[in-house]
Amino acid sequence: MLPPGSVIGMIGGGQLGRMSAQAAARLGFLVHVFSPEPDGPAAQVAARTIIAAYDDLEALRSFAEAVDVITFEFENLPAASLALLESLKPVRPGAKILAISQDRLLEKQFLNDAGVATAPWAKVESLAELEAAVAELGLPAVLKTTRLGYDGKGQAMLRAPEDLAPAFEKLAPKPLVLEGFVDFAAEISVMVARGVDGTIVCFDAVENRHKHHILDLTIAPAPFGPEILEEAQSIARLIAETLALVGLLGVEMFVTSTGALVVNEIAPRPHNSGHWTMDACPCGQFEMHIRAVAGLPLPPAMRHSDAVMKNLIGPEDMALWPRVLATPGLIPHHYGKTEARPGRKMAHFNRLFPKGALPGEFGIEDALALAEKS
Ligand code: AMP
Repeated sequence: MLPPGSVIGMIGGGQLGRMSAQAAARLGFLVHVFSPEPDGPAAQVAARTIIAAYDDLEALRSFAEAVDVITFEFENLPAASLALLESLKPVRPGAKILAISQDRLLEKQFLNDAGVATAPWAKVESLAELEAAVAELGLPAVLKTTRLGYDGKGQAMLRAPEDLAPAFEKLAPKPLVLEGFVDFAAEISVMVARGVDGTIVCFDAVENRHKHHILDLTIAPAPFGPEILEEAQSIARLIAETLALVGLLGVEMFVTSTGALVVNEIAPRPHNSGHWTMDACPCGQFEMHIRAVAGLPLPPAMRHSDAVMKNLIGPEDMALWPRVLATPGLIPHHYGKTEARPGRKMAHFNRLFPKGALPGEFGIEDALALAEKS
């Protein structure tokens, strides 16, 4: 258990690092950020920032020497960098978990080996292999890069045979993975944390709605019956246990039209779909993350309120900022980014509701008081 005054090393300087650093400060820790970007969201609130590339081993070494434990908000660190960090200080979650979550093929293989359902999938290295995979999985299907894809980038929907060759050409690096199309009723996610002592705590499953492939709204809890919600949590627990996770992990799942759960991907760090916990839980995802990596006890992932989280993305949403501030009941979280480029996550807000009083399907926009955009 790290005492107050200890230093937590954070790889990555974005908003997830910023909000982790804010939670760490409340627990009496200092955060050192390692980021290629000067003045990023995390650097603005961190005790110290090292600005260097993720493959700068010299800089990583002096970063590691100055901290007590290392964690991250950005998981695509080169393997050699991770190996160096692990030789110097505890890295939580560890390199094995990062390797799995960085690579969709390893991730799906790991999940299936653990008995967790995913979309049917096939590895694709050539156009001939893609044709064979489509013959097996059928159309529509989704072709994805195995690495570095996010927010719908690095993937293509295949609807007709003529879509195969252009999609195969366009997507890089190879190999790719073909996934059978999941006819989903909703996308949900669960945040799970596991402590150094093996304690596992799991936040409630939530529904995520996307706009232009980017998360727009999170609805907590997800509007499904207890069976589906509890199954989602047991899948998340099983993944955390099987990985021997120390830290926090997000599990994104599809609820199929028949009510089955299919895991899409895992992210071993705080997650945008966990931002609702900042205000609706006594111990939110960022504090839980810091507690887990610092060896502190993990309190129950209790939810005291229902919540809707709304992302504010790019200049269009940021035009609403004055209104967000003027609307009672909206809890704002700004990431400190100066330039609101299209598609860039700039801020979010949470709106809380008494437990059980989440507005129904058609009331959510009104409840956010953003129905008519100014
Ligand atoms: P991902 O980059 O894997 O998170 O995928 C981005 C989005 O594409 C998901 O949130 C889904 O809306 C959609 N998607 C991804 N994979 C599939 C699939 N196998 N079937 C249906 N929709 C998918």
